[in-house]
Amino acid sequence: MSDKKVTKNYHPATLAVRAGQQRTAEQEHSEPIFATSSFVFDSAAQAAARFSDQEKGNVYSRFTNPTVRFFEERLAEMEGAESCVATSSGMSAILALCLATLKAGDHVLCSDGLFGSTKLMFANILSKYDISFDFVDLNDFDAWQASIRGNTQFVYLETPTNPLTEMVDIRELTTLVKKANPETLVVVDNCFATPALQRPLELGADVIIHSATKYIDGQGRCVGGAVVGDAELVGKKVFGILRSAGMTMSPFNAWVFLKGLETLSIRMEKSCQNAQALAEFLQKKAGVNKVHYPGLVDHPQHHLIGGQMSLGGAVVAFEVDGGKQKAWEVIDATELYSITANLGDTRSTITHPATTTHGRLSQEQRDKAGINDSLIRIAVGLEDIRDLTADLHI
Ligand SMILES: *Cc1c(COP(=O)(O)O)cnc(C)c1O
Repeated sequence: MSDKKVTKNYHPATLAVRAGQQRTAEQEHSEPIFATSSFVFDSAAQAAARFSDQEKGNVYSRFTNPTVRFFEERLAEMEGAESCVATSSGMSAILALCLATLKAGDHVLCSDGLFGSTKLMFANILSKYDISFDFVDLNDFDAWQASIRGNTQFVYLETPTNPLTEMVDIRELTTLVKKANPETLVVVDNCFATPALQRPLELGADVIIHSATKYIDGQGRCVGGAVVGDAELVGKKVFGILRSAGMTMSPFNAWVFLKGLETLSIRMEKSCQNAQALAEFLQKKAGVNKVHYPGLVDHPQHHLIGGQMSLGGAVVAFEVDGGKQKAWEVIDATELYSITANLGDTRSTITHPATTTHGRLSQEQRDKAGINDSLIRIAVGLEDIRDLTADLHI
């Protein structure tokens, strides 16, 4: 089992198709799916050595599996990280990180506009274990500074946010956090940007969370996730949680994600191109009051495009004149878009956040988050842009 060692000198697009593969003696070109729950040993002594970690190697697929490892190594290299641990979903990646880093009495500081399930898991589930969570506006640097405590184990944020595409300067925020408490880790959910557009570790972040379900798969087939970071925290501590608690990625899903990574950068480029064109089209359209897209020059964090994040992303949100009724009419009049809250697919999706993804929030919480009844979110896929614009009757 050997292959040419891929080094970190390659660019992400090269690593996406070359990193992480280890060929077997069969000399296969594409990565095999190791559909096996356990592994055999040459002798009782070898079994003992593997179980006690004195010898490296596979034991059981809850611990390690070659196909899963190929995916982990490929994603780690693309993010410029030492380690990656693949998980059964994006949510279990976040849970594994929490179990590895938090104990009763600890504090976590989060940005406000987090993915709904993340916020619910923090506020409703983990808070039962005497861990406290505070939420601050993504760009309110005074609030970040004032809210970091001695027991703040990590800050947690998404950039860009869903659905309003707000961004934050990761480097600036990381500097502030480390000044307030050098022990506090900076965790970035990089699901919306992916390493094809943004690499948070280079900007000072400590840990990256992924929902592989979205752009990494890219074709809406499998649920999975990953924690990415250094060898000590991710390779040892997070891996230790997974090994015992078992939120492991299946080899089949890992194989689908491996194939997804190979086309990630060209898919992201095309989706971003389509999203940019769609945002510019909507901005000129009568009946549209506001368009939220980082690639537009009037976006408040537009200056981060081309630097922190290479392109504007594939999510566009816009507000129509006429409230909820008009928003629903626009959605229902589409023939091409899929009416679904999922995103990161080849197929463009359209959704009304106020009554779906953010429907469980109170009116006051929605107002605070800027999710009004006129808002429509489009996650742009790979269709021809002429068909995507023609399908919107506003
Ligand atoms: C979907 C999503 C998650 C959760 O991932 P699952 O794979 O659905 O568990 C976390 N963060 C963001 C930003 C997401 O979009």
